[in-house]
Amino acid sequence: MIRILTSRMPLAGDVRLGPGDDAALLADGTAITVDTLVEGIHWNHRLSPEDVGWKVLAVSVSDLAAMGARPTWALLALSLPEPLELGWVESFAVGFSAAARRWGVSLVGGDTTRSPGPRFASATLGGRAPARPLTRSGGRPGDDLWVTGPIGLAGAGWSWEAPGPAALAALRRPDPPLDLAADLVGLASAAMDLSDGLSLDLRRLCAASGVGADVQRAALPGHAELGPDPWEIQVAGGEDYQLLFSAPVVNRDAIALAAGHHRRVVARIGAFTTGDLRLDGEPWPRLGFEHFRRGDA
Ligand SMILES: [Mg+2]
Repeated sequence: MIRILTSRMPLAGDVRLGPGDDAALLADGTAITVDTLVEGIHWNHRLSPEDVGWKVLAVSVSDLAAMGARPTWALLALSLPEPLELGWVESFAVGFSAAARRWGVSLVGGDTTRSPGPRFASATLGGRAPARPLTRSGGRPGDDLWVTGPIGLAGAGWSWEAPGPAALAALRRPDPPLDLAADLVGLASAAMDLSDGLSLDLRRLCAASGVGADVQRAALPGHAELGPDPWEIQVAGGEDYQLLFSAPVVNRDAIALAAGHHRRVVARIGAFTTGDLRLDGEPWPRLGFEHFRRGDA
């Protein structure tokens, strides 16, 4: 959708990387991203106002992590219905400030407006990118394909009738692997964050790198709450806010070491190829979060 706008205007000279990755990069090394959460679309009764405050920052931290960038500041826009519920705002602030402390982010400004309907929360997050940031386009056939995990828990937290505590926690308090992401700079060849589900996001990563992929279901990092064969919710679920990345085979040990250092789960789920996207040798499933169809909150 943003491409409809950006295709009509040139990039300014101080833009190093425009739309198409998880964050934009400016020539001075600033990385910047924006995300909006809408009540009824991106959150429902399963999230408290505190959870929404945490999550509106976490989803943008995830985008900067995907570039190997370090967040430093945020702007916050809130749109709220009348009569204003100050208790809601105070609870939101508790969650938002906890997330800001977690990731070392300063809130430097914002805006509040009246909404005629649902609540909206939008955070713009800025930070510092490394000299050679991670992008979606650097993958090559033969590279290993990795995810941090577990994946599928938040999807279960959203869509299952009676999700377990870990699934609800994953939905409410995503914890993007910012620490590990910084160590993947120089090891990973391409990266993005998993927000809309592996099914859609792997298509995007492959398209940007101009490759196909073979993925093994059994390698997807799961969780006891998801049961023995949870591949459908893992592929389609969305909201994981984990990293999907590729790396040359020679970096396997270094990646495992970095993940162990940060106590993060990583799993090698397949490899980039010159062919199509495949799951256990079958055509890649068309499943995933589609923003303009979801209305089940
Ligand atoms: Mg993203």
